[in-house]
Amino acid sequence: MDQEFANQIAVVTGGAHGIGAASARRLAQGGATVVIADRDPQGEEVAAGIRDSGGTAEFIQADLAHPDAVSQVFQAVETAYGHLNLLHCNAGIQRYGTVVETSPELWDEVFQANVKSAYLATHFGIPLMTAGPRAIVLTASVQAFATQTRVAAYTASKGALIALTQALAVDHAADGIRVNAIAPGSVDTPMLRWSASLFAQDGEVDRLIAQWGRSHPLGRVATPEEVAEVVAFLLSPRASFVTGATYRVDGGLLAQLPVVLPSS
Ligand code: NAD
Repeated sequence: MDQEFANQIAVVTGGAHGIGAASARRLAQGGATVVIADRDPQGEEVAAGIRDSGGTAEFIQADLAHPDAVSQVFQAVETAYGHLNLLHCNAGIQRYGTVVETSPELWDEVFQANVKSAYLATHFGIPLMTAGPRAIVLTASVQAFATQTRVAAYTASKGALIALTQALAVDHAADGIRVNAIAPGSVDTPMLRWSASLFAQDGEVDRLIAQWGRSHPLGRVATPEEVAEVVAFLLSPRASFVTGATYRVDGGLLAQLPVVLPSS
């Protein structure tokens, strides 16, 4: 398994932090040449860390909601490497509100970051997937299947990503491209910590995250590395007959009904 991505070119969107950064590190550890695309310049530090560990990575700064910027990312990939093997469409944002509370601008912001970025990355990336192993993973969420209150735009965007995963899988199976989604539960990333900071009493972010963790049957939130491991599996030949699927990486969250029997 060590060098299962040797000689493969990978693009990870939203790789400056959290799940995307862990995915970039994991793919590089497997031997891939990784291109991290993100609007946050912190992506350069993630790429530098990979290089310091003996891997191969570069960072391209881009707002992935904009067609010209995404086109330039994949033009750079084509110029440098000639083709693409692996794509993790992972960039995303979380915003809060019912549909009544969500302004049209906020709705568009969420759909552009979460859905349009995946459309654009696959639109420009798939034509480069012309040789060798080819696979794509989209980062959805458990919130595509069951939702908290007041995350209407986010939930709808994650449902759209699962439908898009199926469309991509069916349309591009004949091209030898497998496409799957992951649906994480709570993962300890800057996004989760930002969410917790909005709701934590007295700044008790760690305590609130631990409480959210206890709502998962495994009793804790995930690390980004645990999620990246599933991404690596789905992108690898070990998942050679898996396409159009959504893998839950949620510590059992969706398997559980919120009905507690009285203790005997
Ligand atoms: P994060 O905020 O730590 O990282 C997200 C990255 O996406 C950031 O580096 C950010 O700069 C980048 N990004 C966002 N919009 C962008 C844009 N328009 N252009 C370029 N870059 C952009 O978040 P994370 O928790 O690692 O989330 C990664 C993905 O996982 C997201 O799609 C998120 O919805 C999903 N997810 C997260 C959790 C969780 O609990 N953390 C759970 C389920 C799903």
